[in-house]
Parts: sequence; structure tokens; C-alpha cells
Amino acid sequence: MRIAIIGAGAMGSLVGSYLAESNEVWLLDPWRDHVDAITANGLIRTEGDTAHVAKPHATTDVADIPPCDIALVLVKYHQTAWAAQQAVRVLGENGICVTLQNGVGNADIIAAAVPPARVCVGVTSLGATLVGPGVVRHAGTGQTVFATPHHAAEITALADAFSAAGLPASTLADVDSIVWGKLVVNVGINALTGILRVPNGVLTRNESALSVLHDAVNEAVIVAHAVGVTLPFHDPLAHVIAVAQATAANRSSTLQDVLRGSPSEIPTINGAIVRIAERYGIAVPTNALLVSLMAAVDSTVRERIAPN
Ligand code: NAD
Repeated sequence: MRIAIIGAGAMGSLVGSYLAESNEVWLLDPWRDHVDAITANGLIRTEGDTAHVAKPHATTDVADIPPCDIALVLVKYHQTAWAAQQAVRVLGENGICVTLQNGVGNADIIAAAVPPARVCVGVTSLGATLVGPGVVRHAGTGQTVFATPHHAAEITALADAFSAAGLPASTLADVDSIVWGKLVVNVGINALTGILRVPNGVLTRNESALSVLHDAVNEAVIVAHAVGVTLPFHDPLAHVIAVAQATAANRSSTLQDVLRGSPSEIPTINGAIVRIAERYGIAVPTNALLVSLMAAVDSTVRERIAPN
């Protein structure tokens, strides 16, 4: 299978390092030092004390990439429109564009550039961290699930390629339940940890933070029910708190973005709740406030006062 990975950040590099074992993998990313390091030394994947070197192709120029069976979008939300433009250029005649990004709304942005019938979504529980140019750490294991509302044969082949490479994957006709399950967890944890600049576990120990988490999650659950989604757990609040406890020491991706001065993905997390709630006439004041606060955090990065 020839697979283009649009966005070779942490997750794109992790997935690319595994898939490159038995597929022709092309990594496309604007970060030149990373691309040059991969081209020169291979892509190094660390896990505990072990290191593995993979040999995917890597480039900053989409014109280098031959027509592909799959374009896998793994950029952050603010880069999705760019990624969609690249995907159009790398897809072969029957190629499919698949997003494994977090949040809800990226597929619609991609479908503005790629024919909607050729856009598919998935969800991954894998975790990855970029250590530096050409080096990715495999930080978490878990299932990847791809939706197959159409193109079932091609998507099943992709899931098989993941599994064969050592990344357990499956397909489901309708992944809404899983997508929204992950969304509800991110709604409760991400914006709050980014605004407060605390690891996940603090949210479960601090009464004030916990009360905001409750309100944000309850609103998201009301919206999920309005949309007709059945969440994959019975007690959403208990589930979100359990996830925050199980990942107590983790810095959420939003906190990492804030600390790095990069735009967060909150517009596609709490922002998705606000947009969808509006369509159904549902009030979601806590999520609306979290979106506004995170937009303010994202846009004042150059005016921040450094701690003494
Ligand atoms: P990332 O922040 O690692 O990479 C995004 C972009 O930033 C890439 O183009 C990358 O090259 C660039 N970049 C990263 N570090 C850089 C640096 N030091 N200098 C210059 N450029 C740099 O993004 P990600 O974590 O791979 O996330 C991609 C998508 O996957 C998102 O939608 C995310 O929510 C989703 N996702 C990520 C994880 C994870 O564990 N990382 C887990 C599940 C889903």
C-alpha cells in the first residue's frame, strides 16, 4: 500500500514509523529539520529503553509524492485546511483521505477540498511525543478504529495494514459513539488543563476545577443525546474523572500547545459542542466560556508575562 501521511508531528511520525515496515510511506511536513533528519538518519522511534529506526520517505514538498492509495491526515486542527489541499494532490484515482485527528469538524474542512465521498474518519488511542527532529517516542498504546460508511474494502485494507504493522486496528460502520466518547473526555479535560496549566489529575482534586469539568461534560452529553449519539459509557462524568485520574501526571495536548505557544485544538473540541448546540438551540454557557478563554490564551501568547 502507498500511504501519504500529511503532518509528520508526533502522531504522524509514530504511525509512519510502524507502517513503513511493509508499506511505501511518504511523510509530508513543513518542518524542514525533521524531514532532513529522517532523510539522513531514518525515523527513530523510542519505547522505554528500546529504539527502532524506520525508513519512510520524507519531504516538505508535496510534488515529490507519487499518487497514493491513502492520504492520512495527522496535522493539528489549525493546519487542516492546508492538509486537505495537500491530500487532493497526493491521492491516486481511487485514493481515500482518512483523518485520525482529535475533535469533531476536521472531516468537514477536508471535504471542502477532497470529494466528500472520499473522506473517512477514525479515532486512535495511541499516544506519541516528538522528542526532537527525526525522533518520536511511543507514549501510549491502544486501538485505532476506522469508520466504513463507504469504501469498506479500502478502509479495511488500511486497518489490516495497521494491525500487521503492530498497531491494533479495526473498522466500524458507524464510529460516532467512539468519536463522541473521546470528544466528551477531551471536553472535560483539555481546555481546563490548558487554562489552568496543570496536569490532568489536578482537575479531580480541585473542587473549583471539578465543578467546571462537571458543567462542561454535562453540556456535551446533552448535545450528544440531541444528535442521537449513544456514548460508549453509562456514566460520562464518572468516566471523564476516571480518565483524568488514570492519566493524573499527563500534560494534555492542549496544555502542551499552550506551553509551546501553538494554537490549541479547542475550536474542534469544546468549539464543536458550541457549534452543534447552536443548531439544536441548546445553551452551553460553560463550553462557550472555555472556548472564549482558550481563544484569548491562544491569541495573547506574545504578551504573556514570564514567571520570575
Ligand atoms: P504535533 O504538534 O506533534 O505536530 C503538529 C505539527 O507541528 C507538525 O507539522 C509538526 O512537524 C510540527 N511541530 C511539532 N513540533 C515542532 C517543533 N519543535 N518545531 C517545529 N515544528 C514542530 O501534533 P500531533 O500530536 O501529532 O497531533 C496531530 C493530530 O493527532 C491532532 O489532531 C491530535 O489531536 C491527534 N492525536 C495526537 C495524539 C498524540 O499522542 N500526539 C493522540 C491522539 C490524537
